[in-house]
Amino acid sequence: VTKASASAQPLKNADELIDSVETFIFDCDGVIWKGDKLIDGVPETLDMLRSKGKRLVFVTNNSTKSRKQYGKKFETLGLTVTEVKDSFLSIVCLKFHRIPSPNSSEFSQEEIFASSFAAAAYLKSIDFPKDKKVYVVGEDGILKELELAGFQYLGGPEDGGKKIELKPGFLMEHDKDVGAVVVGFDRYFNYYKVQYGTLCIRENPGCLFIATNRDAVTHLTDAQEWAGGGSMVGAFVGSTQREPLVVGKPSTFMMDYLANKFGIQKSQICMVGDRLDTDILFGQNGGCKTLLVLSGVTSLSMLQSPNNSIQPDFYTNKISDFLSLKAA
Ligand code: PLP
Ligand code: CA
Repeated sequence: VTKASASAQPLKNADELIDSVETFIFDCDGVIWKGDKLIDGVPETLDMLRSKGKRLVFVTNNSTKSRKQYGKKFETLGLTVTEVKDSFLSIVCLKFHRIPSPNSSEFSQEEIFASSFAAAAYLKSIDFPKDKKVYVVGEDGILKELELAGFQYLGGPEDGGKKIELKPGFLMEHDKDVGAVVVGFDRYFNYYKVQYGTLCIRENPGCLFIATNRDAVTHLTDAQEWAGGGSMVGAFVGSTQREPLVVGKPSTFMMDYLANKFGIQKSQICMVGDRLDTDILFGQNGGCKTLLVLSGVTSLSMLQSPNNSIQPDFYTNKISDFLSLKAA
C-alpha cells in the first residue's frame, strides 16, 4: 500500500526546518523532560536555537503547577532562570525574565504556557467578573494562577474528601456566585467535587465549564500509564451532559494567545511534541509546522499505524537531533 503523501517524513535536514521558522513551541513532558529527568542534549539544543535568534516557547498541558512552579522545575533540571519584577495580567507580581544573552538556555516565565495559566488567561480574556467565583477541581497550579490574575476561587485539592452521608432530605448547598467551574488533573478527585461542580453548572445555565486539558492518559511514572486530566473532565461531561471549553492543547486558545502576545505569525511557528492528539493537533489547528519527537509517549509504529490519522510534517527521535541532522 502506498502511503498518503501527507505521511510524516523523517527529519533529515534540521537546519532547513530551523531556518524556515522564527519560533519553536516545545511541549514539555516527553520533549524537554521525562518526569523528573531532563532529556539528553536539551540545554545544548536550546542554546543553539537561541544563538540563531529563535523565539522559544514552552507549552504544557499539565495543570498541576503554575508557571512559577514550572520555573522552579526548569531550574531543578539545570536550566537557568532569572527572576525580575514586572507587571503581568495588570497586577504587579514576580516573574522570570530571560536576559537576552545569545548563548544561554535561560528562559522567561513569560515563555511558559501551562494549562493552569491558560484557564486564568481565558477568564481574563472574557472579562470574567471579579465579583464572581471560580470553582476549581484541580491542584495547586490552577489556584496559584487564578490568584495571580485576581480571581476569587473555591474548591481545590483539599475540597470534600469525606464520604457523603445521604440522610433523607439532605441537600448540598453551593455558592450561587460561582460563575465558572475549572476542571484539571486532580489526584485528590472525589465525589463531593463532582456533585459540587455539577450543581454549579446545572443550576446556573450561565456557568462556564472549562477544562484545562483532556489528556486520556499520562505517564506519571515510567512504569505505566495513568488516567489523565480527561478522566476528571469526563466525570463532569457525564453528569452535566455539557461539553467543556478546553483551554489547553489541542484547542487554539493558547496558540492564539501566544501568537497575539508575541506578535508571531503562526506559519512562522514549528510545534514540537511527543503526542499526536494534543501537540501535533495543536500545531495543525494553528496552521504551524509540526515535528513529532519519539522521546515521549508516541512510538514510530503508533505514528505509522493505519489507525492513526494525525500526521506531523516531520518526525525524529529527540530534539537534540537538531544538532546532528545536517544537509548531506
Ligand atoms: N497532565 C498531567 C497530569 C501530566 O502529568 C502530564 C505530563 O507529565 C501531562 C498532562 C502532559 O504534559 P505535557 O503537555 O507537558 O506533555
Ligand atoms: Ca508531552
